[in-house]
Amino acid sequence: MLRAIYPGSFDPVTYGHYDIIRRSYKIVDELIVGVLNNKAKMPLFSVEERVKMLEEVTGKLPNVRIEPFDGLLVDFASRMEADVVIRGLRAITDFEYELQMSQTNHKLAPNVETMFLTTSIEYSYLSSTTVKEIAAFGGDLSQFVPEAVAVELKKKMHTNAKRRV
Ligand code: ADP
Repeated sequence: MLRAIYPGSFDPVTYGHYDIIRRSYKIVDELIVGVLNNKAKMPLFSVEERVKMLEEVTGKLPNVRIEPFDGLLVDFASRMEADVVIRGLRAITDFEYELQMSQTNHKLAPNVETMFLTTSIEYSYLSSTTVKEIAAFGGDLSQFVPEAVAVELKKKMHTNAKRRV
């Protein structure tokens, strides 16, 4: 039984994340998408909102579940009894950080392996940050995030704009 964790901020989940989920859940027995509750990062969406969007987007995929976490990834992996951590690699700029993370995690928990999936070409430019910028200026989000996420982004931008007035 191979259980994997795909951790990230998912603020919010994009088609790039979904592509990694869709490709990786087929090669493991169970995929846990771990949503990092890192308050220092000042996310746009609360961890509960990010979990809910991921649940909506992955609802049809068997053997995928969504779990929030905080603290060390290796501790979360141990709690979940996971053997593998999955990460997506976009460009060379991702590589240095991901290499450092995976090597550190390997030192902390030698029995947990990190597996990298390279991004599909059509999503290699895509990040949650870009999506939030497009949403802030009212741009068309349909190529970047699932419809349910686009709706939540619009709502959030509207609420934030009202707060600023
Ligand atoms: P983090 O804050 O941990 O980097 P993200 O939500 O930004 O969290 O990303 C989670 C994971 O998904 C990371 O491994 C990241 O490299 C990967 N990822 C993000 N966007 C894409 C994309 N467009 N294509 C492939 N992988 C991606």
